[in-house]
Amino acid sequence: MTHSIWYKTKVFFGKNALEENKGELLSYGKKAFIVTGGSSAKKSGAYDDIINVLSKLEIEFEIFNEVENNPSVENVGEGGRRAREFGADFIIGIGGGSPLDASKAIAVLAANDIPSLELYNGNFKNEPKPIIAIPTTAGTGSEVTQYSILTRKDKETKMGIGGENLFPKLAFVDPKYTNSLPYQITINTGIDALSHAVEGYLSKRSIPYSDALAEKAIKFFGECLNDLTEDNITETTREKLMYLSMLAGIVIAHTGTTIVHAMGYSLTYFHDIPHGKANGILLEEYLKFNYSDAKEKIDNIINLLGVSSIEDFGNKVKQLIDTKVEISADEIDKYAEKSFLSKNAKNNIVEVTKEDLIGIIRNSIK
Ligand code: NAP
Ligand code: ZN
Repeated sequence: MTHSIWYKTKVFFGKNALEENKGELLSYGKKAFIVTGGSSAKKSGAYDDIINVLSKLEIEFEIFNEVENNPSVENVGEGGRRAREFGADFIIGIGGGSPLDASKAIAVLAANDIPSLELYNGNFKNEPKPIIAIPTTAGTGSEVTQYSILTRKDKETKMGIGGENLFPKLAFVDPKYTNSLPYQITINTGIDALSHAVEGYLSKRSIPYSDALAEKAIKFFGECLNDLTEDNITETTREKLMYLSMLAGIVIAHTGTTIVHAMGYSLTYFHDIPHGKANGILLEEYLKFNYSDAKEKIDNIINLLGVSSIEDFGNKVKQLIDTKVEISADEIDKYAEKSFLSKNAKNNIVEVTKEDLIGIIRNSIK
């Protein structure tokens, strides 16, 4: 039981969290650089809230609203350049995981005029600018993690950077910002959060502390499962999804993700499948694959979700997302190879071979 528990982000959860705790922003300076996607900040209402708050606090701001979905190294490079030019004191990320992750990389580049590929070296001369996170999806938990996952066109995959100084200083987690999410994005992102809890629970690096949070997150997902019907997602369900996504973020901050994320990156990179959906496609076969080595924990997952078996869980997922994807044998081979070489794969409870990963992908897309 030798391990460290370190927590860095001050989280304000609940309705109007930003307005009610706005004074917290005053510690971070007078110039805020807002990082967001093309529409999420405005659609969610978070844009109006932050502008209102910054004006009241007399904090100057500039907006970079060009974050791509699954942001690339080049994309954050441009954001970093603009943040430096503006002379940002701190960075506010608003949106789903894409803008939040981008805001972390931009926080490094705002303080360091370096080529953006050097983000992966980890040795920055200057501390990243403080990061404030305002999530508008209930999925990635990026508001409470030290990871920034970026698309690497040179390597044809997604690769994360991570570091203690990338934890947001503050997170304003308000479920109302997810009311504007379209149904399918709600589902995909919710499944991503579940995937974090499940993979974290079954990670080689799991610890009793992360297990406690993972179990609660999985239970919350189970409580939402029957209510995830189109046009019928209540405020209570949205609140639970937001909460479990934050809990699952704290889980992976300690445990990392495993082979589901590793394989999912290829589905996103090569087939443009949204991140959470990609994980959802793989989850059932992942549980089956690990069952013999993690029987007790997987039985517990099934119980907490309120389903009767791994297959029953798989069927419920299939009602929520379309899991069929056309992938050739050669492509499967290539994705398995990439996943096998990834850092995440090393966290899996069962040591995996490339052939194991080929089998999981093949069975998942049938
Ligand atoms: P996303 O890519 O941030 O957003 C998906 C779509 O939803 C975008 O079109 C976005 O609009 C829209 N959207 C977001 N919030 C909305 C709202 N409230 N109302 C209406 N539309 C909204 O999706 P995500 O699943 O949250 O994030 C995925 C990214 O996070 C991936 O790059 C993944 O690798 C990363 N990730 C990071 C971590 C971590 O620990 N840091 C963990 C897991 C995943 P815009 O175009 O305006 O943005
Ligand atoms: Zn994820």
